[in-house]
Amino acid sequence: MNLNIVCIPGDGIGPEIVTEAKRVLDAVAEKYGHKMQYKDILMGGASIDVHGVPLTDEAVADAKAADAVLMGSIGGNTSTSPWYKLAPNLRPEAGLLAIRKALNLFANLRPAVLYDELSAACPLKEEISAAGFDMMIMRELTGGLYFGDRKTVEENGVRKAIDTLTYDENEIRRIAIKGFDIAMKRRKKVTSVDKANVLDSSRLWRAVVNEVAKDYPEVTLEHMLVDNCAMQLVRDPAQFDVILTENMFGDILSDEASMVTGSIGMLASASLNDTKFGLYEPSHGSAPDIAGQDIANPIATVLSASMMLRYTFDMDKEADAIDNAVKQVLKEGYRTVDIMSEGCTKVGCRKMGELLAERV
Ligand code: NAD
Repeated sequence: MNLNIVCIPGDGIGPEIVTEAKRVLDAVAEKYGHKMQYKDILMGGASIDVHGVPLTDEAVADAKAADAVLMGSIGGNTSTSPWYKLAPNLRPEAGLLAIRKALNLFANLRPAVLYDELSAACPLKEEISAAGFDMMIMRELTGGLYFGDRKTVEENGVRKAIDTLTYDENEIRRIAIKGFDIAMKRRKKVTSVDKANVLDSSRLWRAVVNEVAKDYPEVTLEHMLVDNCAMQLVRDPAQFDVILTENMFGDILSDEASMVTGSIGMLASASLNDTKFGLYEPSHGSAPDIAGQDIANPIATVLSASMMLRYTFDMDKEADAIDNAVKQVLKEGYRTVDIMSEGCTKVGCRKMGELLAERV
């Protein structure tokens, strides 16, 4: 199969980690007889330096023409980089918001996995972390409180701020379908998280999720209130497979879930639209403090590439090959500096990429 992939190396460690992800994808292509066609586009600071804007129309057109986009990370040191002296709409992050909007990416996927070999980095008690966990947080990305009408007014000398939380049933249905589809590729359990004891938007959320569930008889659905979910994530994270939730709850819960894994360099993510198209990127930033030193951990980007194979191209065995290579390399004791522990072998970004490609 021909895979038409647009890459956004971006800024900071972005070019280093994307290079390693391509190396691993190339190994997959060789083993399974596929053809990877890459086209690099500029975004963020790299685009500002060349074009004066963080994202050009041409770059958006290239991304739209691809099957999927694989991204490193964008942005610089927000205190010292000249990019942050520009107007907000010209700064690196504006490019990311613009491409998400242009590509209609409404579903954000963030896996949180605790690897046995890295369990020491997990901040939870050993009796909890011993069970391990492997969950996927599916967050609605373009609706809800962050996109509702808002204003601040003054009434009788008292300032008042209003934010509105709106969802219509179509917005809920399309993300719910994504959530159930993902669950079908995993352990077939969906925990839908809402605040249905208080919010109308949550009651509609719950009703629509129940309707969608009827089309997925193999998937077990449970509903959980968001406050309980926040507790359960630290009390018993092993119970979760897919957590399906709205924008703000997902924002908070996905950060909580990634914290309990303890390793920022290992966290992949994906943003999907209503076709098979997706933008895949690590959850971490561009780490300008370590850029160009060949010490960044490329695993989050490599795992994002694995998600791309699984969710855009339906190449589950190829994605498994990458996920297993990551487990194998960790088992053999290789670590980049961010996940280093005593008795392990420290390797740089490039070496980690080479090891992963070999294990594929
Ligand atoms: P960051 O995630 O870049 O870095 C936080 C810390 O984690 C740093 O000490 C860094 O060295 C370390 N780190 C991050 N990724 C690592 C990796 N793969 N291997 C080893 N260590 C790693 O967060 P920050 O410092 O707050 O942000 C830096 C820049 O990244 C900012 O400009 C910010 O806006 C941008 N950012 C971009 C994205 C994105 O492109 N989606 C996301 C978050 C932050």
